[in-house]
Amino acid sequence: MHYSPRRRGHQAPAGGTWRNWAGNVTATPARWAAPRTEAEISAAVDDAAAAGLRVRALGSGHSFTPAAATDGLALDLSGWTGIVAADTRTGVVTVRSGTTLRALGAALDGLGLAMANLGDIDAQTVAGALSTGTHGTGARLGGLATQAEAFGLVLADGSPVTCSASERPELFAAARVGLGALGVISTVTLRCVPAFALAAEESPELVDEVIERFDSIAAANDHFEFYWFPYGRYALVKRNNRLSPGHTAAPNVRASRPMPGWRRFWEFEVMENAGFGALCRVGRAAPRFIPALNRFSSAALSTRSYTDSSYRVFVTPRRVRFVESEYAVPRESLRDVLAELRQAVPRLADPVMFPVEVRVAAADDIWLSTAYGRDTAYIAIHQYTGLPYQGYFDAFESIVAQVAGRPHWGKMHSLDAERLHALYPRFDDFRRVRAEVDPEGRFGNAYLDRVLGRSLPSDDGPAGPRTAPDGPP
Ligand SMILES: Cc1cc2nc3c(=O)[nH]c(=O)nc-3n(C[C@H](O)[C@H](O)[C@H](O)COP(=O)(O)OP(=O)(O)OC[C@H]3O[C@@H](n4cnc5c(N)ncnc54)[C@H](O)[C@@H]3O)c2cc1C
Repeated sequence: MHYSPRRRGHQAPAGGTWRNWAGNVTATPARWAAPRTEAEISAAVDDAAAAGLRVRALGSGHSFTPAAATDGLALDLSGWTGIVAADTRTGVVTVRSGTTLRALGAALDGLGLAMANLGDIDAQTVAGALSTGTHGTGARLGGLATQAEAFGLVLADGSPVTCSASERPELFAAARVGLGALGVISTVTLRCVPAFALAAEESPELVDEVIERFDSIAAANDHFEFYWFPYGRYALVKRNNRLSPGHTAAPNVRASRPMPGWRRFWEFEVMENAGFGALCRVGRAAPRFIPALNRFSSAALSTRSYTDSSYRVFVTPRRVRFVESEYAVPRESLRDVLAELRQAVPRLADPVMFPVEVRVAAADDIWLSTAYGRDTAYIAIHQYTGLPYQGYFDAFESIVAQVAGRPHWGKMHSLDAERLHALYPRFDDFRRVRAEVDPEGRFGNAYLDRVLGRSLPSDDGPAGPRTAPDGPP
């Protein structure tokens, strides 16, 4: 089963080196495998155990943290895709773990179904997205893991098991946002909803007013987010609202038509990717112009409205590379955090090219979900690839630390097990389940050693040895 890894987007096969989408993490696995059946996943795990290697399943490499990096066995699941079973009456669909959200969205649409919510890209695999707590936006909706009903997992001893709320419920509770720490997810069973259309309204608005009216806008719209260029006065506000079957607009929603192909190309490819990418390159070559370029981007935001299938409206192509950190904070602390961030940005030694993104989610009960037990606002900060970011990310981290901010598991942060233990009431439960199903840490890597610790809860406390925070290799 050993092989030369196939190219999946960013993953460069040359020399067996693996690189993530942002290019800030590389790894050289000792061994690669590309299983195409569950039995082959089990055999690969057994082989790795016999060779004393640790195992990581790879998704699409879209985590900014080294969550998927391994020097042991890398499992490329890009040949393990597709829907296994679908009940169009209940909306319960089982999908192989290497399926991308893009492929899943199209396949579900063909069945008259959809994911209830998505993030802003669809390149991730379904297992990779769930494993790091990927989320979209919507005050009444949770992250993608809230849509999971069951998992097929291959455990450290190579045995295939299934778990759900009624079968091995603790394993299920841990696996919903499992960081790849419990086993190889072979299948994910999702509760989908009938296919729906979204009416999208995007407009530049004064950032002060958006922040002031944040709660009422979040309450009045199914999916609300805004992007704010840190030196500009305007935010791009996105309001996506669900249309009932047959595209009848809700009273507060203006229904429109799908964006024509040429306009889609112009808006998303030319303006948001090629145009913005060119500005970023100018800023990287002459950083003193960044605040002005940033204000220009803010002032150039345009209004658009269109209606389309939900899985097409949620996502946007992202071709300009960047690094990112994102924290989940209690909804009620959002204003204070943004106020501090707005004061901090002009004082940074290195200017910031990329916008700040703000989203919302409802509280959930998933052990390692960033929205566990509290209605949440997400604040994501970005920097163009190649520009200095550490001072910015450090300043942000110290601001969100004051309100018990929880970092996205797939986005850059410096927290270790000791700090994370204080943020997650069920942290020890997760570690206990992990110790039960993977006593030797077969599915560990350096990132998990840092965020979960190497020792078991019964050993010397929650924090294992510290490793370096995320950053360039
Ligand atoms: C441009 C861009 C936009 C993004 N937008 C959003 C967004 O809107 N919302 C959001 O929340 N996040 C967002 N992210 C972050 C992204 O969703 C997460 O980092 C996600 O985990 C990436 O999925 P992946 O398939 O690339 O997984 P990878 O990054 O390859 O892996 C993530 C983790 O999942 C594990 N894993 C993968 N497959 C399996 C499996 N079969 N079994 C067990 N473990 C497995 C890996 O070992 C690793 O620990 C974005 C990232 C980028 C680069």
